[in-house]
Amino acid sequence: MLPPDNVAIDHDPPRRWCAAVSRPPRHQRAGSTSASSASTTVLSNNAGAYVYGRRSKEPRAKLPGHPATRRRDAQAWAVCLRDKIPAYISWEQYEQNQRQLELNDNATRGVPREGATLLAGLVLCGRCGHRMQVSYNGGYARYACVYDARHFATPLCQSLAARPVDEVVEALVLRALAPSALELSLAVASDLEQERAREEKLWQQRLERAHYDVERARRQYDAVEPENRLVARTLERALEERLGAEQKLREQYHRVCATRPVTLTDAERSAIRALATELPKLWNSPTTTNEQRKDVVRQLLDEARVTVEGESERVELTLRWAGGHETTTTLTRPVAKLSQLSYHDDLTRRAAQLQRDGESLQQIADSLNAEGWRPAKQCETFSRSMVRGLLPSHGTTPPQRSIMERVKLKTNEWTMQALAARLHMPRVTLHCWRKRGWIRARWVPIPRPVGAWIIWADDEELERLAARRRPSRKRWPRRPQAA
Ligand SMILES: [Zn+2]
Repeated sequence: MLPPDNVAIDHDPPRRWCAAVSRPPRHQRAGSTSASSASTTVLSNNAGAYVYGRRSKEPRAKLPGHPATRRRDAQAWAVCLRDKIPAYISWEQYEQNQRQLELNDNATRGVPREGATLLAGLVLCGRCGHRMQVSYNGGYARYACVYDARHFATPLCQSLAARPVDEVVEALVLRALAPSALELSLAVASDLEQERAREEKLWQQRLERAHYDVERARRQYDAVEPENRLVARTLERALEERLGAEQKLREQYHRVCATRPVTLTDAERSAIRALATELPKLWNSPTTTNEQRKDVVRQLLDEARVTVEGESERVELTLRWAGGHETTTTLTRPVAKLSQLSYHDDLTRRAAQLQRDGESLQQIADSLNAEGWRPAKQCETFSRSMVRGLLPSHGTTPPQRSIMERVKLKTNEWTMQALAARLHMPRVTLHCWRKRGWIRARWVPIPRPVGAWIIWADDEELERLAARRRPSRKRWPRRPQAA
């Protein structure tokens, strides 16, 4: 198909030509119901190609408020003849622009943006498949799957701290770019180049064969006498078929060439080898920006898929590298509570066992650290307070009982825990009263834990403290500090 005769294509800019041929007749412009107006519009683009059938009409797929036609992929265009009209940009530039526009779409991985994370735009949710977003909480970046929460007001699908994921990805990327790994990749690239050379040879043979068929049909057609009209018509049809087949084959070949990766020259190979040895240094250099690191990651990775196991600290990470190869690994994320840990039951059992063996809180913490247990949050080791939080939940002996066993209490003396329970108030408030001198207390140095406060309170004092606990406007006299 050729442009209409009334369109001047030699000197007019393509935009004007495009406008001229794409404008419907006056009677069809406003409110036109012509079924063919959209699907058969003849268009060109700034790359100088003559294009026909760029959009398809799909009434069944029509959505309210959306256009009735859909854009087809370039491979599905009915006609695409390049270099037919003056062009503003080359065809390669046009294709690159289209790829960039596709990447810019937020539904895909998007362009690298500012921010502290490495994988922004590349992370997919392993639970629902939606792209995860980066959010910042107090300066700490998190990957969060918010699609369902945002669109259907459901609970958040999953979210996790970005740092542990980025650390694993960074290690894997640097390993992939290590000199030994790179040599392997270059060897594979050489094999692929040889394979491509074999493919190219096959393509050339097919093209030669198609051209030979055309020439043969042309010679037969030229040789026929004009009087033999029936024979001439048959040969003409055969020639047209051969010409069409050759044209189709050439278009296929051009498409394959356009998608074929660029081969590396020897100079590029040696530059890559030199860079590989210096890459870890460059990666960690203070002059390297995070955007540059993201660019490197995006050259290597197509996507990363993360799945948090329940609410636990275990995360499965699958990386899809450029070329399709996948790497799956597990990593540990910080969680808020000890109870979220996947090994919480084993941990509490072990801590209780150590306590039954007579170890103090600090000794239990040291033992757990030595045995390789890891706490929640971003801590590396257990502390006394963490162990204290771990023990009561497992029904172990509370520390208060051991104090009562080891301290001989006089008449009307209470431990902090016992008095707090008697007055139905928190222990921390009792400590606060003690510091202010509102209660009589003595310090007993015992080895485990470091010591204990013992409070004196007879019935009258108990009544006074209970009244103090109740809200009252009466001002209470300050009791002198017990000796
Ligand atoms: Zn999700």
